[in-house]
Amino acid sequence: MRLQTSLFAVASLLFAASTGLAQNAPPSPWKKSTGFTNDWQHLKETSLPLAPGVSLLHASGGNTLVLTGPDGTLLVDPSFAQVAPALQAKLKEMGASPVRFVIDSHLHADHSGANGVFHTAGATVIAQDNVRARMSRTQVSPQRTTSAAPADQLPTLTYDHSLHLYLDGENVVLDHLHPSHTDGDTAVFLEHANVVHLGDVFINGMYPYIDVNNGGNIDGYFPALDDVLARTDDKSKIIPGHGDLADKARLQFYRNMLKTVRDRVAAEVAKGATLEQIWATHPSHEFDAEWASDRITPEDFAAMIYQSLTGKRLDYKPGLLR
Ligand SMILES: [Zn+2]
Repeated sequence: MRLQTSLFAVASLLFAASTGLAQNAPPSPWKKSTGFTNDWQHLKETSLPLAPGVSLLHASGGNTLVLTGPDGTLLVDPSFAQVAPALQAKLKEMGASPVRFVIDSHLHADHSGANGVFHTAGATVIAQDNVRARMSRTQVSPQRTTSAAPADQLPTLTYDHSLHLYLDGENVVLDHLHPSHTDGDTAVFLEHANVVHLGDVFINGMYPYIDVNNGGNIDGYFPALDDVLARTDDKSKIIPGHGDLADKARLQFYRNMLKTVRDRVAAEVAKGATLEQIWATHPSHEFDAEWASDRITPEDFAAMIYQSLTGKRLDYKPGLLR
């Protein structure tokens, strides 16, 4: 074990030397992210009704959208596996019908971890093709190794571009977004209720985690968010992967913020700046007080944009992986 650790340390040093880039930012002075807890015994699901039969639930991990009615219940993002008992208790309290469909907005375990619980209970688990493909194999990146998911966690129905479901009087439209957070991001629209769940393409109050090792890219956010903005109006209820319910104006602000910071980093990259030199320009300075957190610091955000634009893959770990 010790040998492995030291070999890993040597490998890390070699990698750092080969890239010539700082591998760790200083400890985060930024606000602590809310919405995550590991206190599994005392989890409580909060619920926010959005429309008849439609609610937003949250305990820990990603936001869960619930559509329930006589045709069965549909969940978008069942969150961590450990959240399932609290989620099931809340559904029972709400008088929800049996869960027939679970949709994963993307592969991360804080959104898809409870797939197995609902699949075992009879639900069909739906995701974009790339989600199942990536979950099916061990993923090795410069930051971490993630084991392949057990068979019962995998989506059982996948789609390529879009998928429509009709239940409980609702038109549920799944759209594969341009690769942004990952390359398997789904936006789920409830057309009658005028609600959309965006997964982690939008995190309300936090800089995005651009998962470049899972196909994410800063330049995918603009076609993805513009597509959603074109399909929503001032009455739309926009559910982020994490954080509070938002409206179109908030999503528009977020989109413009990403573009501002992306363009500043791109201008520095074009001049041949190193990542440290880019950090020194504080490209997101006017947004940091509200959007930076211990999970994604301003340095983390700039580093992920830098990797997107240059194609370089660093072993730099953003706050949520440190
Ligand atoms: Zn995610």
